Amino acid sequence: MEVLYRSTRGQGGEVKASQAILKGLADDGGLFVPTTIPKLEVSVNELSKMTYQEVAYEVMKLYFTDFTEEELKNCINKAYDSKFDTEEIAPLAEVDGAYYLELFHGATIAFKDMALSILPHLLTTSAKKNDVKNEIVILTATSGDTGKAALAGFADVKGTRIVVFYPHGGVSPIQEKQMVTQKGDNTFVVAINGNFDQAQSGVKAIFGNKELAKEMDEKGFQFSSANSINIGRLIPQVAYYVYAYAKLFAEGKVAKDEKINVVVPTGNFGNILAAYYAKNMGLPIDKLVCASNDNKVLYDFFETGCYDRNREFILTNSPSMDILISSNLERLIYKIAENDSEKNAELMAELAKDGKYTITDSMRKQLADFYGNYATEAETTEEIKRVYDKTGYIMDTHTAVASCVYGKYKKDTNDDKVTVIASTASPFKFTRSVMNAINPAYDKLGDFELVDELSKIGNVKVPNAIEEIRNAEIRHNNLCNVDEMESVVKKFLNM
Ligand SMILES: *Cc1c(COP(=O)(O)O)cnc(C)c1O
Repeated sequence: MEVLYRSTRGQGGEVKASQAILKGLADDGGLFVPTTIPKLEVSVNELSKMTYQEVAYEVMKLYFTDFTEEELKNCINKAYDSKFDTEEIAPLAEVDGAYYLELFHGATIAFKDMALSILPHLLTTSAKKNDVKNEIVILTATSGDTGKAALAGFADVKGTRIVVFYPHGGVSPIQEKQMVTQKGDNTFVVAINGNFDQAQSGVKAIFGNKELAKEMDEKGFQFSSANSINIGRLIPQVAYYVYAYAKLFAEGKVAKDEKINVVVPTGNFGNILAAYYAKNMGLPIDKLVCASNDNKVLYDFFETGCYDRNREFILTNSPSMDILISSNLERLIYKIAENDSEKNAELMAELAKDGKYTITDSMRKQLADFYGNYATEAETTEEIKRVYDKTGYIMDTHTAVASCVYGKYKKDTNDDKVTVIASTASPFKFTRSVMNAINPAYDKLGDFELVDELSKIGNVKVPNAIEEIRNAEIRHNNLCNVDEMESVVKKFLNM
């Protein structure tokens, strides 16, 4: 069955998957959503015998219906290859009574690799399918992990260029070093004087600038987005939830049709939305536990039905979740409004104008699939230490937020279903925060001394992604103000 995509704000009609991938954001500022969420066509028993790549194909073929089998398999095989340091791609670690789904075995050791290693291939394939001759310019705002994963995915991919903006001082030293050492003539990295939300709004404004789009087209360029609003990022993420469930089944950890809970450390709401799509495809998931850090907009939303971004922006030790506007939430809002794009557009207009909106009671009722909670900075730190002391397993700060919230969920509900916790980054990416949590005395060590110490006490090899940047040269040294973002892009394109 062909699946088409439409904007959550109702304008522009229906487009094919490849067109939605090319556009990123819909023309009316909305997000593309599938007109129906397809059901899995193979049984869990069959899935449990498949490789990651095979499961990914079973999931993606249901959404990207205008791709041929060969095209899609080609994309999948180019993405999930030896860039990952394990054949399993997304292994499960059983620790302290839960299953940590390690999504950080790709090129940049964060879960963004799961989607961004395939997006460039989906995008260039989509361009070919639609006879696009322009060079595609990827424009991305990052709170740290997206930037590097997108750079790694797009570097030297023919027919593409990529510009990444990140908040100056708002990412970890390792994240920054990973980005500013990026190779590839088609890459450009810029720090901005502002926070992530400002970077994201700046990028959205550039996307929305029709005059600029025209000027670009004349010069042979067109923008696309690698941010998690692109449907070409969201759908590949559905695959690992299906894979995780199939794996649990294969190992006898769940019986046929037994429901599991999924806990996701959440920022832009992409990862947890992928789990929600998996559930709607028929995967036996019960609760979707949405874990926030001190920027607990989503927790408050689930508690009150009011989404309110009017609050202080807090820099935490889980910076990839320091977000006050969770873009992908719009896809959920649209769905719980029973696909009422007018209602959704109205709420999003309120968000743009007043920084908040309140959903209706009937919409709230449909949020029963979700449980929201948050972990403070101190709780996050304690969780890393608690689990390390008890088991020797070292998790990163984002995963620790989820792990801590899982503890709160169990306490609140006594629900003891088998639980998968999305582990979204390697501890090596946030070494200082992680090591300080285990013992504050580590703080006097240098960044790479900490890396070696982490490797020693955790008994895990230093990932390649870290080895590579130890002595790498700085290739990008750019800083601009928020209102200069557009001119910076033009300069990079020699316009
Ligand atoms: C991006 C990111 C998150 C948040 O994921 P969303 O899909 O934006 O909710 C959590 N942890 C890490 C390490 C990330 O990079």
